Amino acid sequence: MTTVTPLISSASPLARDIDGKAIAAQVLEEVREDVKKLAGQQIFPALAVLLVGEDPASHVYVRNKLLRAQEVGIRSLEYRLPDTASQVQVLELIAQLNMDVSVNGILVQLPLPAHIDEAAVIHAIDPIKDVDGFHRENVGGLVQGIEVLTPCTPSGCMRLLQETCGDLSGLHAVVIGRSNIVGKPMATLLLQANCSVSVVHSRSVDAPALCRLADIVVAAVGRPGLIDASWLKPGAVVIDVGINRIATESGHRLVGDVDYASARTVASAITPVPGGVGPMTIAYLLKNTLVASQLQRGVGRVLVG
Ligand code: NAP
Repeated sequence: MTTVTPLISSASPLARDIDGKAIAAQVLEEVREDVKKLAGQQIFPALAVLLVGEDPASHVYVRNKLLRAQEVGIRSLEYRLPDTASQVQVLELIAQLNMDVSVNGILVQLPLPAHIDEAAVIHAIDPIKDVDGFHRENVGGLVQGIEVLTPCTPSGCMRLLQETCGDLSGLHAVVIGRSNIVGKPMATLLLQANCSVSVVHSRSVDAPALCRLADIVVAAVGRPGLIDASWLKPGAVVIDVGINRIATESGHRLVGDVDYASARTVASAITPVPGGVGPMTIAYLLKNTLVASQLQRGVGRVLVG
């Protein structure tokens, strides 16, 4: 067992912010550069985004994704189906996109209307075009350490951690939450980065005590402000994945799963909400579109890392 030097030897009075907007801008710049290089080889990566129904939040997410794709020069194709679309219609469209060699990435915006089986739709996407990394083939590959398309939010969190801490080897990470889209892939990626990993969930006994052992805490719970200073070891690095909409007198505001004001009195670095993990998710979606186009040509991650 290696002895690990603490990340930050003593906690400063207030944690510094991990600037997700700035780091995402850097990732997008890397993607833009790679898109240019590919254009020189007459390769033009394309992302198809499918939106079913009228969920207002989903419309905002899709608009942002398409806008960012355009900014980095990735061709984007938007497909909209009404709330009343049948599962067969959705599956037919996916089959078409799977066959279309000019489409490198397929993203189905979730949630889908209740009458459509989300799992059936996700697993209908060709795994090599599954830029969300949710297909069971990609999930299995991730666990086995095979080069696959990896879920965007955990990939973005890893980049934030690497930019903040450098080498993560030997650090103890606690992931709070065990969903298929965030908690589980996050724990797997941390393990691959040689962290010792614990996963805390709703049945964990004394979750705060488990978290207080952690050098790195990743919160993906969906409970506003659940994690406060009493959950943290001094100097811990905190990644707050949570996005919770809180009603205010003037409308609403977004808060994370971490009580930011309290946590930053103990942590050494923390992601704010908004402006932390959120921008990284879109950046890694576009990065995944490039990775998909590379994998489809059988050349692996030549340009993108
Ligand atoms: P989810 O599927 O609802 O999973 C929540 C997890 O939290 C579950 O594993 C649950 O445990 C655990 N949990 C619930 N209460 C807990 C408690 N009191 N103590 C410890 N663990 C508890 O949520 P998700 O999809 O992973 O999303 C989590 C949050 O991240 C949400 O706020 C979501 O909006 C946000 N999110 C943000 C991004 C982004 O781009 N920033 C992307 C995705 C998600 P059990 O398994 O035992 O029920």
